Amino acid sequence: MASCKKCSRDSEDIAEVLFHCADCIRKADEESLSMLADIHAHSRQEFSLPAAPPSNPDGIECGLCQNNCRIPVGGRGYCGVRRNENGQIKGGTPAGAAVSWYHDPLPTNCVADWVCAGGSGAGYPQWAHRRGPEQGYMNLAVFYQACTFNCLFCQNWHYREKSTSNQIHTAKELAGAVVAGTSCICFFGGDPTCQLPHALAASRMALKQNQNRILRICWETNGSVSPELLDEMMHLSVESGGCVKFDLKAMDANIHYALCGVDNKRTLENFAAAVRFIPQRPEPPPLIASTLLVPGYIEAQEVTAIASFIAKLNPDIPYALLGFHGDFLMTDLPATSWKQAESCLSAAKATGLRRVRLGNVHIFR
Ligand code: SF4
Ligand code: SF4
Ligand code: SF4
Ligand SMILES: [Zn+2]
Repeated sequence: MASCKKCSRDSEDIAEVLFHCADCIRKADEESLSMLADIHAHSRQEFSLPAAPPSNPDGIECGLCQNNCRIPVGGRGYCGVRRNENGQIKGGTPAGAAVSWYHDPLPTNCVADWVCAGGSGAGYPQWAHRRGPEQGYMNLAVFYQACTFNCLFCQNWHYREKSTSNQIHTAKELAGAVVAGTSCICFFGGDPTCQLPHALAASRMALKQNQNRILRICWETNGSVSPELLDEMMHLSVESGGCVKFDLKAMDANIHYALCGVDNKRTLENFAAAVRFIPQRPEPPPLIASTLLVPGYIEAQEVTAIASFIAKLNPDIPYALLGFHGDFLMTDLPATSWKQAESCLSAAKATGLRRVRLGNVHIFR
């Protein structure tokens, strides 16, 4: 139970770390926005991550994501992994990325498992080995240990401890991890965005080394990547039977900023731009959306706005509404309730979206 500093309302759906309710965040004034910026800056200190994207006029421009960091010599970008060493950008390149990987038997707990080739057999026989879930095969799960966002509820927040560690693996090592039973590679994290040159190089090597067999390339991302690189991600997924899974965290810019520490403009623009790849290979769906149902903040109002945005682009894009559990700096919030989940599901369906479903239902209370 926390209190909103602005309207004095008490609720178990107000996160202590934000000390603002959703309504007061939507209409935040300068003072509230500055408090929210301080909360994010402070949360990054213990991981030695820059409080804000560096904008040194003499720095080198990274260009991988919306943060447009200009990194001075000896400095690091907002994600922590990209750094300027003697005038050269290092980190996340084919020569070395902060990354780890493991094989996961299919079907796996993937946000797209209800519509993708590995989870459902969609696209069989061209893109899947089985008519249903791909029993007997594996997903190569590739976890990138850095991110371009700063979500206060991050369920994988431990990656932050490794973003600046410089422990690295080459793209060649990763490509060599594909074995006979691997039928898909999922790049996630953190977010693959800030180490995309590594991921793209590893994907291309893996596809080249494994021609004439099924090897799908998939991505789970916050959508902050540069538009040119998004096209490369989409292209690889479309060509290989995989998909790009966008996490659309909030539609209201202030809510997004409060939860994630950054703006959502690029994500929304990228999602809209990615829609043009759908006709190239409609099944299995190459573009998927999901939203985490954060109690008090991502309720039916936000879901309606996100779902309307998706439905206007293409009502057949699959959209998963995911259960939230307290994590990182928002451990005081309760898990998503069935009541919240069902009202969000109805709200999403009411926008005309034809493929909506609840995920992580075991979490709902
Ligand atoms: S990838 Fe990292 S360094 Fe590059 S612009 Fe984004 S946050 Fe900054
Ligand atoms: S990596 Fe792709 S194909 Fe494999 S389970 Fe996940 S979404 Fe499905
Ligand atoms: S985008 Fe994902 S990995 Fe990155 S901070 Fe947010 S929840 Fe964590
Ligand atoms: Zn309030």
